[in-house]
Amino acid sequence: MSATTRDLQRVAAETFGWHELRPEQLTAMEAVAAGRDVLAVLPTGAGKSAIYQVPAVLQEGPTLIVSPLVALQRDQRTGIAERADGEDAPEAVVINSVQRAEENRRAWEVVDEGGAAYVFLAPEQLARADVVERLRHAAIGLFVIDEAHCVSQWGHDFRPDYLRLGHVIAQLGKPPVLALTATAAPPVRADMLDRLGLADPVEVIGSFDRPNLHLAAALHVDEDQRRAAVVDRAAALAEENRGRGLVYCAARAETGRLAEALRSRGIAAEAYHAGLGRARREAVHDRFSSGATTVVVATSAFGMGIDQPDVRFVLHAASPGSLDDYYQQVGRAGRDGEPAVVELHHHARDSAVARFLSARRPKPDSLRAALDAVANRARSLPDVVRASGLSRVRATTALNLLEQAGAVVTDEDGVLHRTEIDADAAVKEAVDHAEGRREVIVSRVERMRLYAETTDCRRRMLLGYFGEQHPQRCGRCDNCDDGTADDVEAPAGDIDTDIDTDAGRAVVHPKFGDGVVMAEDDDRVTVFFHEYGYRDLATEAVRERNLLRPADADEPSTDHVGDDGRGEHNEG
Ligand SMILES: [Zn+2]
Repeated sequence: MSATTRDLQRVAAETFGWHELRPEQLTAMEAVAAGRDVLAVLPTGAGKSAIYQVPAVLQEGPTLIVSPLVALQRDQRTGIAERADGEDAPEAVVINSVQRAEENRRAWEVVDEGGAAYVFLAPEQLARADVVERLRHAAIGLFVIDEAHCVSQWGHDFRPDYLRLGHVIAQLGKPPVLALTATAAPPVRADMLDRLGLADPVEVIGSFDRPNLHLAAALHVDEDQRRAAVVDRAAALAEENRGRGLVYCAARAETGRLAEALRSRGIAAEAYHAGLGRARREAVHDRFSSGATTVVVATSAFGMGIDQPDVRFVLHAASPGSLDDYYQQVGRAGRDGEPAVVELHHHARDSAVARFLSARRPKPDSLRAALDAVANRARSLPDVVRASGLSRVRATTALNLLEQAGAVVTDEDGVLHRTEIDADAAVKEAVDHAEGRREVIVSRVERMRLYAETTDCRRRMLLGYFGEQHPQRCGRCDNCDDGTADDVEAPAGDIDTDIDTDAGRAVVHPKFGDGVVMAEDDDRVTVFFHEYGYRDLATEAVRERNLLRPADADEPSTDHVGDDGRGEHNEG
Protein backbone atom coordinates (compact mmCIF):
# COMPACT_ATOMS: atom_id res chain seq x y z
CA MET A 1 0.00 0.00 0.00
CA SER A 2 1.88 3.04 -1.16
CA ALA A 3 1.07 6.66 -0.56
CA THR A 4 -0.21 8.69 -3.46
CA THR A 5 1.21 12.01 -4.60
CA ARG A 6 -1.76 13.67 -3.00
CA ASP A 7 -1.08 11.97 0.35
CA LEU A 8 2.50 13.22 0.23
CA GLN A 9 1.43 16.76 -0.57
CA ARG A 10 -1.15 16.70 2.19
CA VAL A 11 1.37 15.54 4.82
CA ALA A 12 3.92 18.08 3.57
CA ALA A 13 1.42 20.89 4.02
CA GLU A 14 -0.46 19.77 7.14
CA THR A 15 2.35 18.30 9.20
CA PHE A 16 5.32 20.35 8.05
CA GLY A 17 3.85 23.51 6.54
CA TRP A 18 5.43 22.95 3.11
CA HIS A 19 2.78 24.04 0.67
CA GLU A 20 4.93 23.69 -2.37
CA LEU A 21 7.33 20.84 -3.13
CA ARG A 22 10.05 21.08 -5.75
CA PRO A 23 9.66 18.63 -8.65
CA GLU A 24 12.82 16.71 -7.70
CA GLN A 25 11.66 16.47 -4.07
CA LEU A 26 8.33 15.07 -5.13
CA THR A 27 9.86 12.62 -7.61
CA ALA A 28 12.16 11.25 -4.92
CA MET A 29 9.36 11.11 -2.31
CA GLU A 30 7.07 9.21 -4.65
CA ALA A 31 9.79 6.63 -5.27
CA VAL A 32 10.46 6.32 -1.52
CA ALA A 33 6.74 5.94 -0.80
CA ALA A 34 6.55 3.24 -3.47
CA GLY A 35 9.19 1.26 -1.59
CA ARG A 36 11.98 1.78 -4.14
CA ASP A 37 15.63 2.36 -3.30
CA VAL A 38 16.48 5.97 -4.12
CA LEU A 39 19.69 7.91 -4.68
CA ALA A 40 19.13 11.68 -4.53
CA VAL A 41 22.04 13.96 -5.43
CA LEU A 42 20.71 17.44 -4.82
CA PRO A 43 22.50 20.67 -3.94
CA THR A 44 22.41 22.06 -0.42
CA GLY A 45 19.27 24.06 0.06
CA ALA A 46 17.18 21.82 -2.22
CA GLY A 47 15.31 20.36 0.76
CA LYS A 48 16.82 16.89 0.91
CA SER A 49 15.55 16.14 4.44
CA ALA A 50 11.93 16.55 3.36
CA ILE A 51 12.40 13.58 1.04
CA TYR A 52 12.37 11.19 4.01
CA GLN A 53 10.52 13.30 6.56
CA VAL A 54 7.27 13.35 4.60
CA PRO A 55 6.99 9.69 3.47
CA ALA A 56 8.04 8.58 6.98
CA VAL A 57 4.75 9.87 8.38
CA LEU A 58 2.79 7.62 6.01
CA GLN A 59 4.79 4.45 6.40
CA GLU A 60 4.85 1.61 8.88
CA GLY A 61 7.93 1.28 11.05
CA PRO A 62 10.38 3.97 12.05
CA THR A 63 12.73 5.72 9.65
CA LEU A 64 16.38 5.24 10.52
CA ILE A 65 18.68 8.12 9.55
CA VAL A 66 22.42 7.47 9.58
CA SER A 67 24.13 10.80 9.89
CA PRO A 68 27.85 11.32 10.49
CA LEU A 69 27.86 14.29 12.84
CA VAL A 70 26.14 14.71 16.15
CA ALA A 71 25.52 18.39 15.37
CA LEU A 72 23.75 17.42 12.14
CA GLN A 73 21.58 14.90 13.97
CA ARG A 74 20.53 17.48 16.52
CA ASP A 75 19.81 20.11 13.86
CA GLN A 76 17.60 17.71 11.98
CA ARG A 77 15.70 16.66 15.07
CA THR A 78 15.19 20.30 16.05
CA GLY A 79 14.05 21.05 12.49
CA ILE A 80 11.39 18.34 12.71
CA ALA A 81 10.24 19.50 16.14
CA GLU A 82 9.96 23.12 15.04
CA ARG A 83 8.09 22.41 11.85
CA ALA A 84 5.82 19.70 13.11
CA ASP A 85 4.55 20.77 16.49
CA GLY A 86 1.24 19.81 18.02
CA GLU A 87 -0.20 16.63 19.39
CA ASP A 88 0.35 14.41 16.39
CA ALA A 89 3.89 15.56 15.76
CA PRO A 90 6.03 12.56 14.77
CA GLU A 91 8.65 11.82 17.42
CA ALA A 92 12.36 11.96 16.61
CA VAL A 93 15.09 10.45 18.79
CA VAL A 94 18.87 10.70 18.62
CA ILE A 95 21.25 7.93 19.68
CA ASN A 96 25.01 8.40 19.73
CA SER A 97 28.06 7.91 21.89
CA VAL A 98 28.37 11.60 22.73
CA GLN A 99 25.14 12.12 24.64
CA ARG A 100 24.59 10.78 28.17
CA ALA A 101 23.79 7.11 28.70
CA GLU A 102 20.51 8.15 30.29
CA GLU A 103 19.45 10.02 27.15
CA ASN A 104 20.32 7.02 24.97
CA ARG A 105 18.40 4.71 27.31
CA ARG A 106 15.31 6.88 27.07
CA ALA A 107 15.63 7.13 23.28
CA TRP A 108 15.84 3.34 23.00
CA GLU A 109 12.72 2.98 25.14
CA VAL A 110 10.79 5.13 22.71
CA VAL A 111 12.09 3.01 19.82
CA ASP A 112 11.28 -0.28 21.59
CA GLU A 113 7.74 0.88 22.33
CA GLY A 114 7.23 1.72 18.67
CA GLY A 115 6.87 5.42 19.42
CA ALA A 116 9.70 6.80 17.28
CA ALA A 117 9.01 7.99 13.75
CA TYR A 118 12.64 9.04 13.18
CA VAL A 119 15.75 7.50 14.71
CA PHE A 120 19.03 9.38 14.15
CA LEU A 121 22.16 7.28 14.58
CA ALA A 122 25.87 7.78 14.07
CA PRO A 123 27.41 5.18 11.71
CA GLU A 124 29.81 3.76 14.30
CA GLN A 125 26.80 2.68 16.40
CA LEU A 126 25.96 0.20 13.68
CA ALA A 127 29.21 -1.70 14.22
CA ARG A 128 27.60 -3.02 17.43
CA ALA A 129 25.63 -6.23 17.13
CA ASP A 130 23.24 -5.32 19.98
CA VAL A 131 22.31 -2.05 18.25
CA VAL A 132 21.58 -3.81 14.96
CA GLU A 133 19.56 -6.46 16.79
CA ARG A 134 17.45 -3.85 18.53
CA LEU A 135 16.81 -2.09 15.23
CA ARG A 136 15.79 -5.38 13.68
CA HIS A 137 13.13 -5.73 16.36
CA ALA A 138 11.95 -2.21 15.63
CA ALA A 139 11.26 -3.25 12.00
CA ILE A 140 12.80 -0.25 10.25
CA GLY A 141 10.54 0.99 7.46
CA LEU A 142 13.07 3.19 5.67
CA PHE A 143 16.88 3.32 5.89
CA VAL A 144 18.21 6.82 5.16
CA ILE A 145 21.90 7.53 4.63
CA ASP A 146 22.75 11.18 4.97
CA GLU A 147 26.02 12.42 3.41
CA ALA A 148 26.00 9.15 1.49
CA HIS A 149 29.13 10.03 -0.51
CA CYS A 150 31.04 8.98 2.65
CA VAL A 151 30.45 5.38 1.58
CA SER A 152 32.58 5.76 -1.54
CA GLN A 153 36.33 5.64 -1.47
CA TRP A 154 36.18 8.13 -4.36
CA GLY A 155 33.96 10.58 -2.52
CA HIS A 156 35.31 13.71 -0.91
CA ASP A 157 34.90 12.50 2.64
CA PHE A 158 35.28 8.75 2.69
CA ARG A 159 34.56 7.20 6.09
CA PRO A 160 35.43 3.55 6.65
CA ASP A 161 32.48 3.27 9.06
CA TYR A 162 30.16 3.90 6.14
CA LEU A 163 31.51 0.95 4.17
CA ARG A 164 29.79 -1.45 6.52
CA LEU A 165 26.33 0.01 5.97
CA GLY A 166 25.69 -2.44 3.14
CA HIS A 167 25.97 -5.31 5.61
CA VAL A 168 23.70 -3.63 8.11
CA ILE A 169 21.04 -3.05 5.46
CA ALA A 170 21.17 -6.77 4.67
CA GLN A 171 20.97 -7.68 8.38
CA LEU A 172 17.89 -5.51 8.78
CA GLY A 173 16.19 -7.47 6.01
CA LYS A 174 16.80 -4.95 3.23
CA PRO A 175 14.35 -2.18 4.03
CA PRO A 176 14.04 0.45 1.25
CA VAL A 177 17.11 2.71 1.22
CA LEU A 178 17.31 6.44 0.55
CA ALA A 179 20.87 7.70 -0.04
CA LEU A 180 21.24 11.48 0.11
CA THR A 181 24.19 13.64 -0.88
CA ALA A 182 24.89 17.09 -2.28
CA THR A 183 27.91 16.10 -4.36
CA ALA A 184 28.75 12.92 -6.19
CA ALA A 185 30.42 12.61 -9.57
CA PRO A 186 29.21 9.63 -11.67
CA PRO A 187 32.02 7.26 -10.59
CA VAL A 188 31.23 8.07 -6.95
CA ARG A 189 27.53 7.36 -7.54
CA ALA A 190 28.29 4.01 -9.14
CA ASP A 191 30.64 3.08 -6.31
CA MET A 192 28.06 4.10 -3.67
CA LEU A 193 25.30 1.99 -5.19
CA ASP A 194 27.63 -0.96 -5.47
CA ARG A 195 28.79 -0.75 -1.86
CA LEU A 196 25.31 -0.29 -0.48
CA GLY A 197 24.08 -3.23 -2.53
CA LEU A 198 21.30 -1.22 -4.20
CA ALA A 199 19.98 -2.81 -7.33
CA ASP A 200 17.91 -0.74 -9.71
CA PRO A 201 17.49 2.40 -7.59
CA VAL A 202 15.65 5.50 -8.73
CA GLU A 203 18.26 8.23 -9.24
CA VAL A 204 17.25 11.86 -8.80
CA ILE A 205 20.16 14.09 -9.81
CA GLY A 206 20.05 17.89 -9.62
CA SER A 207 22.33 20.32 -11.47
CA PHE A 208 25.77 20.95 -10.00
CA ASP A 209 26.00 24.46 -11.39
CA ARG A 210 26.30 27.29 -8.88
CA PRO A 211 26.09 30.33 -11.15
CA ASN A 212 26.68 32.87 -8.38
CA LEU A 213 30.21 31.58 -7.72
CA HIS A 214 32.98 33.34 -9.63
CA LEU A 215 35.72 30.77 -10.27
CA ALA A 216 39.41 31.61 -10.55
CA ALA A 217 42.83 30.05 -10.07
CA ALA A 218 46.40 31.30 -9.78
CA LEU A 219 49.61 29.32 -10.32
CA HIS A 220 52.55 29.83 -7.99
CA VAL A 221 56.16 28.69 -8.16
CA ASP A 222 57.26 29.83 -4.74
CA GLU A 223 55.69 28.87 -1.41
CA ASP A 224 56.33 32.18 0.36
CA GLN A 225 54.94 34.10 -2.53
CA ARG A 226 51.86 31.86 -2.59
CA ARG A 227 51.27 32.38 1.12
CA ALA A 228 51.61 36.15 0.71
CA ALA A 229 49.18 36.13 -2.23
CA VAL A 230 46.57 34.15 -0.26
CA VAL A 231 46.84 36.47 2.74
CA ASP A 232 46.54 39.54 0.50
CA ARG A 233 43.48 38.18 -1.25
CA ALA A 234 41.76 37.05 1.94
CA ALA A 235 42.38 40.41 3.61
CA ALA A 236 41.16 42.33 0.56
CA LEU A 237 38.03 40.18 0.15
CA ALA A 238 37.20 40.35 3.87
CA GLU A 239 37.40 44.13 3.74
CA GLU A 240 35.66 44.81 0.47
CA ASN A 241 32.86 42.26 0.92
CA ARG A 242 32.39 42.85 4.63
CA GLY A 243 31.49 39.19 4.70
CA ARG A 244 32.74 35.92 6.03
CA GLY A 245 35.26 33.75 4.26
CA LEU A 246 37.09 30.43 4.43
CA VAL A 247 40.71 29.69 3.58
CA TYR A 248 41.56 26.00 3.10
CA CYS A 249 45.09 24.71 3.74
CA ALA A 250 46.63 21.27 3.26
CA ALA A 251 48.54 21.18 6.56
CA ARG A 252 47.51 21.90 10.14
CA ALA A 253 50.58 24.03 10.86
CA GLU A 254 49.76 26.24 7.90
CA THR A 255 46.31 27.16 9.28
CA GLY A 256 47.87 28.80 12.35
CA ARG A 257 50.45 30.63 10.29
CA LEU A 258 47.94 32.12 7.85
CA ALA A 259 45.42 32.99 10.57
CA GLU A 260 48.17 34.83 12.43
CA ALA A 261 49.17 36.73 9.28
CA LEU A 262 45.54 37.79 8.76
CA ARG A 263 45.13 38.89 12.38
CA SER A 264 48.20 41.09 11.98
CA ARG A 265 46.27 42.81 9.18
CA GLY A 266 43.37 43.50 11.52
CA ILE A 267 41.15 40.66 10.23
CA ALA A 268 39.32 38.55 12.84
CA ALA A 269 40.76 35.22 11.70
CA GLU A 270 41.04 31.87 13.49
CA ALA A 271 42.64 28.53 12.70
CA TYR A 272 40.73 25.24 12.70
CA HIS A 273 41.85 21.65 12.27
CA ALA A 274 41.05 18.20 13.63
CA GLY A 275 43.98 18.33 16.05
CA LEU A 276 42.29 20.98 18.18
CA GLY A 277 40.21 19.87 21.14
CA ARG A 278 36.48 19.51 20.67
CA ALA A 279 35.61 22.49 22.88
CA ARG A 280 38.00 24.66 20.91
CA ARG A 281 36.60 23.51 17.57
CA GLU A 282 33.03 24.12 18.67
CA ALA A 283 34.00 27.59 19.86
CA VAL A 284 35.45 28.43 16.42
CA HIS A 285 32.24 27.15 14.81
CA ASP A 286 30.14 29.31 17.11
CA ARG A 287 32.20 32.46 16.58
CA PHE A 288 32.10 31.96 12.81
CA SER A 289 28.31 31.51 12.92
CA SER A 290 27.80 34.57 15.09
CA GLY A 291 30.06 36.70 12.89
CA ALA A 292 32.60 37.38 15.64
CA THR A 293 35.17 35.58 13.50
CA THR A 294 35.33 36.77 9.88
CA VAL A 295 37.75 34.29 8.37
CA VAL A 296 38.40 30.68 9.35
CA VAL A 297 41.67 29.23 8.06
CA ALA A 298 41.19 25.49 8.12
CA THR A 299 42.06 22.05 6.88
CA SER A 300 39.35 19.99 5.20
CA ALA A 301 38.14 19.08 8.72
CA PHE A 302 36.16 22.32 8.76
CA GLY A 303 33.01 22.14 6.78
CA MET A 304 30.62 19.30 7.23
CA GLY A 305 27.58 20.66 8.96
CA ILE A 306 28.44 24.29 8.23
CA ASP A 307 25.50 25.90 6.60
CA GLN A 308 26.32 29.57 6.80
CA PRO A 309 24.39 31.24 3.98
CA ASP A 310 26.56 34.33 3.57
CA VAL A 311 30.10 33.01 3.12
CA ARG A 312 31.41 35.48 0.53
CA PHE A 313 34.65 33.77 -0.43
CA VAL A 314 36.48 30.44 -0.29
CA LEU A 315 40.20 30.51 -1.04
CA HIS A 316 42.43 27.47 -1.34
CA ALA A 317 46.01 27.93 -0.20
CA ALA A 318 46.74 24.47 -1.69
CA SER A 319 45.02 22.16 -4.16
CA PRO A 320 43.08 19.30 -2.57
CA GLY A 321 43.55 15.76 -3.87
CA SER A 322 40.58 15.80 -6.22
CA LEU A 323 37.94 17.97 -7.81
CA ASP A 324 35.38 16.13 -5.66
CA ASP A 325 37.00 17.60 -2.55
CA TYR A 326 37.47 20.95 -4.19
CA TYR A 327 33.90 21.28 -5.35
CA GLN A 328 32.55 20.27 -1.97
CA GLN A 329 34.65 22.91 -0.22
CA VAL A 330 33.91 25.79 -2.61
CA GLY A 331 30.23 24.85 -2.38
CA ARG A 332 30.23 26.46 1.07
CA ALA A 333 30.42 29.88 -0.58
CA GLY A 334 27.34 31.88 -1.53
CA ARG A 335 24.61 29.58 -0.30
CA ASP A 336 22.32 32.60 -0.14
CA GLY A 337 22.58 32.84 -3.94
CA GLU A 338 24.41 36.18 -3.79
CA PRO A 339 27.75 36.57 -5.64
CA ALA A 340 30.73 34.90 -4.01
CA VAL A 341 34.38 34.48 -4.96
CA VAL A 342 36.25 31.19 -5.09
CA GLU A 343 39.95 31.08 -5.86
CA LEU A 344 42.42 28.24 -6.08
CA HIS A 345 46.10 28.97 -5.39
CA HIS A 346 48.00 26.08 -6.92
CA HIS A 347 51.64 25.06 -6.69
CA ALA A 348 53.13 22.18 -8.73
CA ARG A 349 54.21 20.72 -5.39
CA ASP A 350 50.55 20.09 -4.45
CA SER A 351 50.17 17.42 -7.13
CA ALA A 352 53.48 15.83 -6.20
CA VAL A 353 52.48 15.61 -2.53
CA ALA A 354 49.09 14.13 -3.39
CA ARG A 355 50.71 11.53 -5.64
CA PHE A 356 53.17 10.67 -2.89
CA LEU A 357 50.38 10.20 -0.35
CA SER A 358 48.51 7.95 -2.74
CA ALA A 359 51.49 5.61 -2.73
CA ARG A 360 50.98 4.80 0.95
CA ARG A 361 49.99 1.19 1.30
CA PRO A 362 48.35 -0.67 4.13
CA LYS A 363 51.04 -2.42 6.14
CA PRO A 364 51.02 -6.21 5.73
CA ASP A 365 51.49 -6.38 9.52
CA SER A 366 48.20 -4.55 10.14
CA LEU A 367 46.40 -6.80 7.71
CA ARG A 368 47.89 -9.85 9.36
CA ALA A 369 46.95 -8.62 12.85
CA ALA A 370 43.33 -8.03 11.81
CA LEU A 371 43.18 -11.42 10.11
CA ASP A 372 44.60 -13.18 13.17
CA ALA A 373 42.07 -11.43 15.38
CA VAL A 374 39.19 -12.71 13.26
CA ALA A 375 40.70 -16.20 13.14
CA ASN A 376 40.82 -16.06 16.96
CA ARG A 377 37.11 -15.36 17.24
CA ALA A 378 36.99 -11.57 17.13
CA ARG A 379 33.39 -11.29 15.95
CA SER A 380 32.96 -7.56 15.42
CA LEU A 381 35.00 -4.47 14.63
CA PRO A 382 35.35 -3.48 18.32
CA ASP A 383 36.59 -7.04 19.04
CA VAL A 384 39.20 -6.71 16.29
CA VAL A 385 40.34 -3.34 17.65
CA ARG A 386 40.73 -4.86 21.12
CA ALA A 387 42.45 -8.05 19.99
CA SER A 388 44.81 -6.56 17.41
CA GLY A 389 45.81 -3.33 19.12
CA LEU A 390 45.19 -1.51 15.82
CA SER A 391 43.51 1.88 15.79
CA ARG A 392 39.86 1.88 14.80
CA VAL A 393 40.64 3.45 11.42
CA ARG A 394 43.42 0.96 10.63
CA ALA A 395 41.32 -1.98 11.75
CA THR A 396 38.38 -0.85 9.62
CA THR A 397 40.58 -0.33 6.56
CA ALA A 398 42.26 -3.70 7.09
CA LEU A 399 38.92 -5.52 7.46
CA ASN A 400 37.52 -3.88 4.36
CA LEU A 401 40.53 -4.89 2.30
CA LEU A 402 40.48 -8.42 3.73
CA GLU A 403 36.82 -8.67 2.90
CA GLN A 404 37.52 -7.60 -0.64
CA ALA A 405 40.22 -10.26 -0.76
CA GLY A 406 37.67 -12.85 0.38
CA ALA A 407 39.58 -13.80 3.56
CA VAL A 408 36.93 -12.38 5.88
CA VAL A 409 33.17 -12.38 5.45
CA THR A 410 30.40 -10.73 7.43
CA ASP A 411 27.42 -13.03 7.86
CA GLU A 412 23.77 -12.02 7.95
CA ASP A 413 24.00 -11.35 11.65
CA GLY A 414 26.92 -9.00 11.15
CA VAL A 415 29.40 -11.47 12.64
CA LEU A 416 32.90 -11.66 11.14
CA HIS A 417 34.26 -15.01 9.97
CA ARG A 418 37.59 -16.16 8.64
CA THR A 419 37.32 -18.07 5.35
CA GLU A 420 39.51 -20.85 4.04
CA ILE A 421 41.65 -18.50 1.97
CA ASP A 422 45.33 -18.74 2.81
CA ALA A 423 46.58 -15.87 4.98
CA ASP A 424 49.63 -15.03 2.86
CA ALA A 425 47.58 -15.00 -0.30
CA ALA A 426 44.92 -12.83 1.32
CA VAL A 427 47.39 -10.27 2.61
CA LYS A 428 49.06 -10.07 -0.79
CA GLU A 429 45.71 -9.71 -2.53
CA ALA A 430 44.66 -6.93 -0.13
CA VAL A 431 47.92 -5.05 -0.70
CA ASP A 432 47.52 -5.46 -4.46
CA HIS A 433 43.97 -4.18 -4.30
CA ALA A 434 45.10 -1.06 -2.46
CA GLU A 435 47.84 -0.65 -5.04
CA GLY A 436 45.30 -0.95 -7.86
CA ARG A 437 43.45 2.06 -6.53
CA ARG A 438 46.59 4.12 -6.98
CA GLU A 439 46.03 4.55 -10.70
CA VAL A 440 42.63 6.01 -10.02
CA ILE A 441 43.89 8.29 -7.26
CA VAL A 442 46.70 9.60 -9.45
CA SER A 443 44.28 10.30 -12.29
CA ARG A 444 42.12 12.34 -9.90
CA VAL A 445 45.13 14.35 -8.78
CA GLU A 446 45.84 15.02 -12.45
CA ARG A 447 42.29 16.33 -13.02
CA MET A 448 42.81 18.74 -10.16
CA ARG A 449 46.06 19.96 -11.71
CA LEU A 450 44.44 20.33 -15.14
CA TYR A 451 41.71 22.44 -13.57
CA ALA A 452 44.32 24.72 -11.95
CA GLU A 453 46.24 25.08 -15.20
CA THR A 454 43.45 25.28 -17.77
CA THR A 455 42.97 28.39 -19.88
CA ASP A 456 39.53 27.15 -20.86
CA CYS A 457 36.27 28.00 -19.08
CA ARG A 458 36.63 26.67 -15.53
CA ARG A 459 32.93 26.14 -14.99
CA ARG A 460 32.72 23.98 -18.11
CA MET A 461 35.57 21.83 -16.85
CA LEU A 462 34.22 21.52 -13.32
CA LEU A 463 30.71 20.62 -14.48
CA GLY A 464 32.14 18.20 -17.05
CA TYR A 465 33.84 16.40 -14.16
CA PHE A 466 30.38 15.82 -12.69
CA GLY A 467 29.03 14.63 -16.01
CA GLU A 468 27.20 17.84 -16.84
CA GLN A 469 27.70 19.54 -20.23
CA HIS A 470 28.22 23.28 -20.53
CA PRO A 471 29.03 24.11 -24.18
CA GLN A 472 28.83 27.89 -23.79
CA ARG A 473 31.45 29.90 -21.97
CA CYS A 474 30.15 30.73 -18.51
CA GLY A 475 31.23 34.37 -18.40
CA ARG A 476 31.86 34.06 -14.65
CA CYS A 477 35.37 32.70 -14.38
CA ASP A 478 38.82 34.26 -14.76
CA ASN A 479 39.45 32.59 -18.12
CA CYS A 480 36.16 33.84 -19.55
CA ASP A 481 37.01 37.30 -18.17
CA ASP A 482 40.45 37.16 -19.81
CA GLY A 483 39.13 35.95 -23.14
CA THR A 484 41.10 32.69 -23.17
CA ALA A 485 38.00 30.48 -23.01
CA ASP A 486 35.93 29.65 -26.05
CA ASP A 487 32.51 28.26 -26.82
CA VAL A 488 32.73 24.62 -27.71
CA GLU A 489 31.01 23.51 -30.85
CA ALA A 490 28.56 20.81 -30.09
CA PRO A 491 29.98 17.57 -31.44
CA ALA A 492 28.38 16.72 -34.76
CA GLY A 493 26.24 13.90 -33.50
CA ASP A 494 27.62 10.89 -31.73
CA ILE A 495 31.14 10.00 -32.61
CA ASP A 496 30.14 6.65 -33.97
CA THR A 497 26.82 5.45 -35.23
CA ASP A 498 27.10 2.41 -32.98
CA ILE A 499 27.83 4.23 -29.82
CA ASP A 500 26.27 6.89 -27.75
CA THR A 501 28.87 8.99 -25.96
CA ASP A 502 26.46 10.99 -23.87
CA ALA A 503 27.78 11.66 -20.39
CA GLY A 504 26.88 8.90 -17.99
CA ARG A 505 26.94 6.10 -20.57
CA ALA A 506 28.64 2.92 -19.52
CA VAL A 507 31.29 1.87 -22.03
CA VAL A 508 34.02 -0.74 -22.46
CA HIS A 509 37.51 -0.03 -23.76
CA PRO A 510 39.72 -2.91 -24.98
CA LYS A 511 42.60 -1.99 -22.65
CA PHE A 512 41.08 0.06 -19.85
CA GLY A 513 37.96 -2.04 -19.40
CA ASP A 514 34.69 -0.74 -17.98
CA GLY A 515 34.12 2.97 -17.70
CA VAL A 516 31.66 5.83 -17.74
CA VAL A 517 31.70 8.70 -20.24
CA MET A 518 32.18 11.93 -18.32
CA ALA A 519 32.40 14.66 -20.93
CA GLU A 520 32.98 15.20 -24.61
CA ASP A 521 34.15 18.18 -26.63
CA ASP A 522 35.19 18.61 -30.25
CA ASP A 523 38.33 16.51 -30.20
CA ARG A 524 38.30 14.34 -27.12
CA VAL A 525 36.14 12.21 -24.89
CA THR A 526 36.82 11.98 -21.16
CA VAL A 527 36.05 8.61 -19.61
CA PHE A 528 36.34 7.44 -16.02
CA PHE A 529 37.59 3.84 -16.06
CA HIS A 530 36.90 1.91 -12.90
CA GLU A 531 40.41 0.48 -12.75
CA TYR A 532 42.44 3.23 -14.39
CA GLY A 533 40.68 6.44 -13.43
CA TYR A 534 40.22 9.40 -15.76
CA ARG A 535 41.53 9.19 -19.33
CA ASP A 536 41.16 11.62 -22.22
CA LEU A 537 40.75 9.79 -25.50
CA ALA A 538 41.12 11.38 -28.93
CA THR A 539 37.70 11.39 -30.58
CA GLU A 540 39.32 10.61 -33.91
CA ALA A 541 41.05 7.50 -32.61
CA VAL A 542 37.94 6.37 -30.77
CA ARG A 543 35.94 6.65 -33.96
CA GLU A 544 38.47 5.06 -36.30
CA ARG A 545 39.25 2.14 -34.07
CA ASN A 546 35.89 1.72 -32.38
CA LEU A 547 37.51 1.96 -28.94
CA LEU A 548 34.42 2.60 -26.86
CA ARG A 549 31.62 0.09 -27.03
CA PRO A 550 28.44 0.25 -25.02
CA ALA A 551 28.88 -1.81 -21.87
CA ASP A 552 25.57 -3.56 -22.33
CA ALA A 553 26.22 -4.74 -25.91
CA ASP A 554 25.40 -8.43 -26.12
CA GLU A 555 27.82 -9.40 -28.80
CA PRO A 556 31.01 -7.41 -28.80
CA SER A 557 32.19 -7.13 -32.37
CA THR A 558 35.65 -8.45 -32.91
CA ASP A 559 36.69 -5.63 -35.22
CA HIS A 560 39.59 -3.41 -34.33
CA VAL A 561 40.51 -5.17 -31.13
CA GLY A 562 44.25 -4.95 -30.76
CA ASP A 563 46.82 -3.20 -28.68
CA ASP A 564 45.35 0.00 -27.48
CA GLY A 565 45.73 3.19 -25.62
CA ARG A 566 47.33 4.89 -28.60
CA GLY A 567 44.30 7.11 -28.79
CA GLU A 568 45.10 8.45 -25.37
CA HIS A 569 46.23 12.02 -25.02
CA ASN A 570 49.32 12.55 -23.02
CA GLU A 571 48.17 14.49 -20.02
CA GLY A 572 51.63 15.57 -18.92
ZN1 LIG B 1 33.95 30.45 -17.67
